[in-house]
Amino acid sequence: MANPSSILDYERIDQLGRSPEPSAQELKDILDKARLLKGLEDPEAASLLAVTTPEARQAILEAAAFVKSEIYGARMVLFAPLYAGNKCSNDCLYCGFRRTNKDLTRITLNRHQIEEETRALLAQGHKRLLLLTGETGAYGLDYMMDALDAIYSVREKGANIRRVNVEVAPMSVDDFKVLKTGNIGTYTCFQETYDPTYYAKYHVAGPKANYLNRLTVMDRAMEAGIDDVGLGVLFGLAPWRQEVISMLDHARHLEKRWGCGPHTVSVPRLEPAHGAPISSAVPHPVNDDDFRLLVAVLRLTLPYTGIILSTRESVEMRNSLFRYGVSQVSAGSRTEPGGYQDAKESETFSHSQFSLADHRSLHQMVSDLVDGGFVPSFCTGCYRMGRTGADFMDLAKPGLIKCFCLPNGLSSFAEYLEEYADDSLKTRGYATIDRLANEAETPEIRQRIIDGVAKVRTGGRDIYV
Ligand code: SAM
Ligand code: SF4
Repeated sequence: MANPSSILDYERIDQLGRSPEPSAQELKDILDKARLLKGLEDPEAASLLAVTTPEARQAILEAAAFVKSEIYGARMVLFAPLYAGNKCSNDCLYCGFRRTNKDLTRITLNRHQIEEETRALLAQGHKRLLLLTGETGAYGLDYMMDALDAIYSVREKGANIRRVNVEVAPMSVDDFKVLKTGNIGTYTCFQETYDPTYYAKYHVAGPKANYLNRLTVMDRAMEAGIDDVGLGVLFGLAPWRQEVISMLDHARHLEKRWGCGPHTVSVPRLEPAHGAPISSAVPHPVNDDDFRLLVAVLRLTLPYTGIILSTRESVEMRNSLFRYGVSQVSAGSRTEPGGYQDAKESETFSHSQFSLADHRSLHQMVSDLVDGGFVPSFCTGCYRMGRTGADFMDLAKPGLIKCFCLPNGLSSFAEYLEEYADDSLKTRGYATIDRLANEAETPEIRQRIIDGVAKVRTGGRDIYV
């Protein structure tokens, strides 16, 4: 294949995508290395992706569960998407927002409506949002800056949103510089598929049809000083092994050029969407076993990169992936603009982007996480202390992040328990906090947990170190 961009080495991706299955000894060596928590090289990851036998796959999942637990402990970061507008000038064949979908009711939230959505999310207990829009001139820089300002300005029960990540159309370096002043967390943009041929097939019109403009977006964001960026592949569009290897290659490019890889990677699978032809006839479906494997391999290869899963996946799949690698999940999501204010039992297909599989409320999700032995975290401490980009990775790699993340995560969870939980959840939640304080790796961490939670229980809020 001709090389459309120096960011990716397409020939190497092609070769690695055809890696043979490793021998038992090779598999053992790779997994032993992964357990050292220093990540894997791409050929090693490619080798793991080629594994087919159930026993060998299970060994990979168990190694991923070990790495996940060593680095992230029981924490699971929760967030909600806020869809501000569904107008779009692109024609992505998989998306309900595509411009040729005449059945979609087009909605653009104004400042007041964005504030109301934020209020509804704060009332549930959310502290971290992901702001999304379709791609059109109406959602240019001015709109985004106003939306960010609107979100951060809302106070509900004395609380406010503390981190807004954004997932919007690619921008220029100059626009990214301005966007950064809006106090954004991570800038996320999924490549959808890294294969230029498939990319052209599914992105038939509008600015997004420009593959290179999308592939180079993270370099522009980084050049503008946005050092937390999020990559993603929409699984189902192209053969999954090559897609994972390509995303790793993209991550390596960022590491080499900017000294820091992606802060997160997202792993959406194509879901049914009204008015989106290929969403109901997925071209390259990824079955559940392959999906679990690819998440586990990402966890082993990029141990310090957050892996994000959305409510597109079923409760069962989400629960198993929490163990094998996922570290951030959306909860109580709506994918239609204005969906939180007029929350209805069933989804409003007439203006939503795609259908969701996990319909649990935030409260139910928190309760289920606690029962599963996890700690729901709403923490935004690192980003607000300036521990982002390479600074975060420098801290994370030696494991120091544990000293901050566990105490901060537990303080943010205690805040949720105080403000939003019923008695049953409170009892179970504080029992989890006590258990984790007792199991803390060092007396200092234990003391930090006890101090932080005590502050919250006596009325302190937004406690982090
Ligand atoms: N419009 C911007 C863009 O395309 O990057 C940002 C937000 S778009 C609303 C967010 C993501 O939704 C897309 O990048 C795509 O991967 C995902 N998406 C679209 N249709 C989907 C579907 N049917 N199932 C799952 N994910 C889908
Ligand atoms: Fe528009 Fe994004 Fe949907 Fe494509 S994926 S149609 S750009 S909203």
